[in-house]
Amino acid sequence: MPVDYSKYEPVIGLEIHIQLSTKSKAYSSDSTTYGEPPNTNVSPISLGHPGTLPLMNKKTIESAVKLGLAVGSDIREMNEFARKNYFYADLPKGYQITQHETPICTGGNVVVKDAEGNPKNIGITRIHMEEDSGKSMHDIDPFNTLIDLNRAGVPLLEMVSEPDFRSGEEAYSYLSEVRKLVRYLDISDGNMEEGSMRCDVNVSVRPKGREKFGTKVEVKNMNSFRNVQKAIDFEIKRQIELVESGGEVEQTTMNFNAATGETILLRSKEDAHDYRYFTEPDLQPVVVTEEYVGKVKENMPALPSELFEKYVKELGLSEYDASILTENKSIALYFEDLIQHTSNAKAAANWMMGEIKSHLNAKAIEIDDFPIASSTIAELIALVDDSKISNTVASQKVFPLLLESNSKSPLELAKENNWIQESNQDALTGFVEAALAKYPDKVEEYKNGKKGVLGLFMGEVMKMSQGKADPKVANQLVRQALEK
Ligand code: ADP
Ligand code: MG
Repeated sequence: MPVDYSKYEPVIGLEIHIQLSTKSKAYSSDSTTYGEPPNTNVSPISLGHPGTLPLMNKKTIESAVKLGLAVGSDIREMNEFARKNYFYADLPKGYQITQHETPICTGGNVVVKDAEGNPKNIGITRIHMEEDSGKSMHDIDPFNTLIDLNRAGVPLLEMVSEPDFRSGEEAYSYLSEVRKLVRYLDISDGNMEEGSMRCDVNVSVRPKGREKFGTKVEVKNMNSFRNVQKAIDFEIKRQIELVESGGEVEQTTMNFNAATGETILLRSKEDAHDYRYFTEPDLQPVVVTEEYVGKVKENMPALPSELFEKYVKELGLSEYDASILTENKSIALYFEDLIQHTSNAKAAANWMMGEIKSHLNAKAIEIDDFPIASSTIAELIALVDDSKISNTVASQKVFPLLLESNSKSPLELAKENNWIQESNQDALTGFVEAALAKYPDKVEEYKNGKKGVLGLFMGEVMKMSQGKADPKVANQLVRQALEK
């Protein structure tokens, strides 16, 4: 009998580790620079030598507060740290300093798109500060595991969601939003492929209509957003099929295998760690005052959601345009600049998403390396709005010249190349009269109701003006002349 998947509702919660882009580590002054030779960014503190003491990095706290404010969390005043004890070769201290019972942020939410494309709130349970472990490399030496401790002690934020997701797609949308957020806030590069954003998913299924959650399975080791989505979808299907065939889901931790798209058992609940948490005796609690939170709030950059709202409500752009423009922080900042110089927001958006995006794609560069100043693009928009040049001339003639050199203004380029449109009524009237005189029979046809011949006269006028006639004005004059 085929399995009826629609009888079940998936329930999913995500735990994301966000690696912060601070200059130094969470509890020492060791550098965090990525890609340095192994085991060079290490001091006795990172190595966990006896007698060393941790020192709190203020940047970690600021980053946590920023993220918390961005998602609407409550920010805790008294922040204690705890030791989470376990033994592993890439954890030289034998414990991780983390926040156990006093996470710096609690509550809040992130808006994602559900299956119908409608906004949906995903609750945030908590965000807490902790430190990363070193890296074990199993695939370099055929006989030994190699350890690089450069990453040991790099600050992380762990962001735990409520079990609010109902599909892999929603989880994908959430990850994109969180990445966008940390990049806007400038607290992490949010790069999942490079490990600066890591995600564990918790998946369970329950018969539709039942309130009680099913037993959850945790899946680890996905290195892209798509793989997170795939792992969830695979796990949902596996669990439903298991339950339908009379089996029972057991609380386990699974690994995702990107090559096969399947999840495989890593460990069962019996192997669960007892971390023996206790208060970290070497770090004083960090007091985050209301005044401090206020200061961080004052210096917060505009958030993508705020810009989106502004573009739709104040500038009258479509939701589609607004979402494209806010997808990437640098693009949004360029656009923000651009609209300081022009009030034609729609034209500005079209330039961003048309010519400028195409150029960036073709050259495989980021907007930060785009050679034309936003004020120059605004000048181009003004020339078109004033009917000095046509849109086509602006995008296909002037724009490419501006890309090559910024020594001349759009107006200078249009002038010296003779691209300024003819909207002078007297000159145009001459062309119109000449065009009508050339085809008297067509004028008759027009008068007899064959309005389509208008195009022929327009073509003539454009030809005679060497393409410089302002089409709007010319069209009006041709009509007037024909209807006389
Ligand atoms: P644990 O104690 O095993 O770490 P938590 O209660 O801390 O579990 O939850 C960890 C993550 O799992 C959270 O993101 C939470 O939303 C999610 N979660 C909890 N229960 C379930 C469930 N039954 N099904 C799916 N996800 C769940
Ligand atoms: Mg937990």
